[in-house]
Amino acid sequence: MPSTQALTPMVSPGKTTPVAWHHLADRVLDGGSIGREDALAILNSPDVELLDLLAAAWRVRHHFFGNTVQLFFLMNAKSGLCPEDCGYCSQSKVSEAEIPRYNLLSAPKLLEAAKTAAERQSKTFCIVISARSPSEREIDFVCKIVPEIKQQYDLNICACLGLLTPEQAQRLATAGVDKVNHNLNTSERFYPEICTTHTYADRVATLEACRSAGLQLCSGGIMGMGETRDDLVDMAMELRAIGVESIPLNFLNSIDGTPLETTNRLTPRDCLRGLAMMRLVNPSSEIRIAGGREIHLGSLQSLGLYAANSMFVGDYLTTQGQLPDADYKMIAEMGFVITRGQESDALPMPPTL
Ligand code: SF4
Repeated sequence: MPSTQALTPMVSPGKTTPVAWHHLADRVLDGGSIGREDALAILNSPDVELLDLLAAAWRVRHHFFGNTVQLFFLMNAKSGLCPEDCGYCSQSKVSEAEIPRYNLLSAPKLLEAAKTAAERQSKTFCIVISARSPSEREIDFVCKIVPEIKQQYDLNICACLGLLTPEQAQRLATAGVDKVNHNLNTSERFYPEICTTHTYADRVATLEACRSAGLQLCSGGIMGMGETRDDLVDMAMELRAIGVESIPLNFLNSIDGTPLETTNRLTPRDCLRGLAMMRLVNPSSEIRIAGGREIHLGSLQSLGLYAANSMFVGDYLTTQGQLPDADYKMIAEMGFVITRGQESDALPMPPTL
C-alpha cells in the first residue's frame, strides 16, 4: 500500500491546469496518495483538460499494469426473485422490468458457462446470484461446483452471493473461491436513497468477513444514480481504506421498470473522469469498466482503458453487452494485450500517451 502523505490539495476546483494532473500522477507514482479535494477536482475538471487527465491516469495505470487488459466473464446463476429493494437493480422485489427469472442453474449449465469464459480468454469467472444472502443450498452448490470448474479450466473464481457471514466466507475460501464481489455501490450518505432493505454497514461487514477469511475483495460502485460528486469521492476513498483489490465501476443503465428508470445524467466525459479519479485514488487496484459502458461511454469506450485495466466480456446480469469480437478488436487496435497473469505485475514505466 502506498504511504499516506499529508493530503494538501494540489489542485482546486476551477483552478486546474493540465500539468496539475501530472503532478497528481507524480505524487502517486512516488508512493503517495491524493486527497479528497484533488479527487473532487478531477470530477469537476473541464472537458478541455480531459486528455491531460487521462494521460496522467494512464501513467499510473501503465506503471502497475502495462498495456494489459484483464477480462471478466459473468454468469447470472440465479436471476430475479430478490427480496431486496435496490433501486438500480432489475432483479429486486420492486422492479417490474421484464427480465428472465429463474432459480439456481444446474451444474452442467455453470460448467458450460465456465467453458465459454475460458474460450473468451477471461481471467476470472464470476458466479452471481440474486439474493439478500445465499441459502444453505446455494452455498453448498457454489462450494461444490467451484473445485470442478477449477479442475477443468484455468480460471479465477469470483463469487457474488449477497451478504455473507464470516462462516459462509470461510466456506467459500476453503472451496477455492479466489475473490468475492460485494459492491459498496455509492457513499454511506447516499446509500439509503438507493436501498432500504439493508445498509451500507451491512455491506462493509461482508467485505470485512471476506477479508478475514483470506478472500480477495472485488467492490466498486455505480455512477449516475443521482449521487453527488462528493458521494463518488467518498466511495473511492472508502474502497482505498478497505484496500480492495478489484474495483468495478458501473454506469447506471436505467432499466425500464426499475425505480431509477428515468435517471440518466452521465456524459461519456463524466464516465472518463470517474475512471481517472478511481485510478488516481486507487493506483494499484485492478479497475474495471463495468456495466453500462456501451451506453454511456459510447464511442469513447476505448479511452476508458487508459485509466481502467479490465472489463467484462459478454453480457451483464440482465442486459446485453457488446459482442466479444468488438471488444477484442478494440483492445487490439489500442495496442493492448489480454492478460491472464497476476493482477499487480509491475511493468516498466510508460511511454507518453
Ligand atoms: S441484493 Fe443484489 S440482486 Fe438483490 S436487489 Fe440488490 S443488487 Fe439486486
